[in-house]
Amino acid sequence: MTTESETRETDVVVIGAGPGGYAAAFAAADQGLKAILVDAGEQPGGVCLNRGCIPSKALLHVARLINETREAGEWGVSFTKPKIDIDTLRRWKNEVIDKNASGIRQLAKSRKVELIRAWARFENSQTLILSGPEGDSADLGRIRFKRCVLAAGSRPATIPAFKIDSPRVMDSTGALELQSIPKSLLVVGGGYIGLEMGTVYAALGSEVTVVEMTDGLLPGADRDLVRVLEARLKSTFKSIHLQAKVVKMADTGDAVEVTFEPAAEGLKNPPPATQKFDRVLVSVGRTPNSQGYGLENTKVKVGPRGFVEVDNRLQTADEHIYAIGDVIGEPMLAHKASYEAKVVADVLAGKKTVLDSRAIPAIVFTDPEIAWTGITESQAKQAGRPVKVSKFPWGASGRATAMARNDGLTKVIADPETHRVLGVGIVGVGAGELIAEATLAIEMAASAHDVGLTIHPHPTLSETVGEAAEQAFGTTIHLAPPKR
Ligand code: FAD
Repeated sequence: MTTESETRETDVVVIGAGPGGYAAAFAAADQGLKAILVDAGEQPGGVCLNRGCIPSKALLHVARLINETREAGEWGVSFTKPKIDIDTLRRWKNEVIDKNASGIRQLAKSRKVELIRAWARFENSQTLILSGPEGDSADLGRIRFKRCVLAAGSRPATIPAFKIDSPRVMDSTGALELQSIPKSLLVVGGGYIGLEMGTVYAALGSEVTVVEMTDGLLPGADRDLVRVLEARLKSTFKSIHLQAKVVKMADTGDAVEVTFEPAAEGLKNPPPATQKFDRVLVSVGRTPNSQGYGLENTKVKVGPRGFVEVDNRLQTADEHIYAIGDVIGEPMLAHKASYEAKVVADVLAGKKTVLDSRAIPAIVFTDPEIAWTGITESQAKQAGRPVKVSKFPWGASGRATAMARNDGLTKVIADPETHRVLGVGIVGVGAGELIAEATLAIEMAASAHDVGLTIHPHPTLSETVGEAAEQAFGTTIHLAPPKR
């Protein structure tokens, strides 16, 4: 990355080289615009590559492998208990990151996009001041731009009471550093990041306890899907406490002592009043990065939750500044950021493009995975929208049986009159790969008939999508016919 001090002039400057930012800079360059990409991080790739999607999936891959070797004993293939060399595992995870980061650098070079390592701040609506990253105040010059795309992302949310300055208390970034494998780990928060990291540490040998304030894991996902995951997590995690909260944490030198409080009477599995854990992972959501950017020197508006406000062409209240990715709102997902990047590049190139996606898939990479796209059944219920829901349990899938993973369910949520597919939800091994077809079906306005009549290869788990769609008409071969 370049660091010399000067004032550069450019058509487009992008702040943040995450999946939103680098995609926006590359797509703008592909449309003939001069683009500069600024990121304060050591490597491009943002949270997703350096401390999010990619390292967590590398570790989840290892977790799945460990779990499969355990299960194989039941099929007559026994492995000895895995020996985990944490230094090698950490090195491998870091190599995965480095390889991808170097790919992004190459792609930037091939497009003549200048990549600058610096902290960027708005001096006014058309100038950025660059300083050294990580609090280093070195003057790295200015950038005068015609348009800027703010893709500054988000960071882990914190709760003041949990800030106890203990190396035993970590956020997702700390958990991905893989410093050690604690004997016991408390995960505070039953959202996707906590459950994914819990899955990794449980496979590596930690006794994992999850505490979640609401009455279910993964708020936002349909309950019938979550139930399947919860059934398995009950055997891989030591304990799951729902409707319970952490009220205090204290580092006692050899552990963290956690004080719990039940949030309701008569809980099925209430937490003890206090319990000691070797480590605690706090994963209670994410906060947009919109503070400390000099936005007050521009016309950009920030909403009450800290998200930068944009219109359907991703333009902020300042005509020179656009924003994409986590910093503009939910769902905070890499592919949403990249989609917005393509739209904003079109807008910057003068095209009449607007945001108009019909479905943004979401995946929880636990074991089994949960994935959904389009409308969920609970969203339809909340909105009072009538829908027809048809389900295909994986107990009836030949491929799932061959993998000894019948713990799955695929469901299609369709319009009861037109049969148009509005949403699909899947829980099961590889659900994340299967959801892509469903997203395309929604984007292409396919009906459940279209999906059911599509020939799905046998024997694959993708057949469950076709069969769930056919079940909307009671014509699924592998389920008993509906009673007439
Ligand atoms: P980010 O990736 O957050 O990148 C923002 C960049 O901006 C950073 O590199 C930062 O250094 C830089 N920056 C910020 N301010 C400045 C400044 N002033 N000057 C210069 N640079 C600046 N999403 C998925 O879709 N799938 C997953 O499996 C998934 N797993 C995740 C797992 C974990 C543990 C975490 C934490 C997140 C995960 N996410 C996942 C979410 C995903 O990482 C984010 O949605 C995605 O990274 C957002 O992209 P972005 O481009 O908006 O910003």
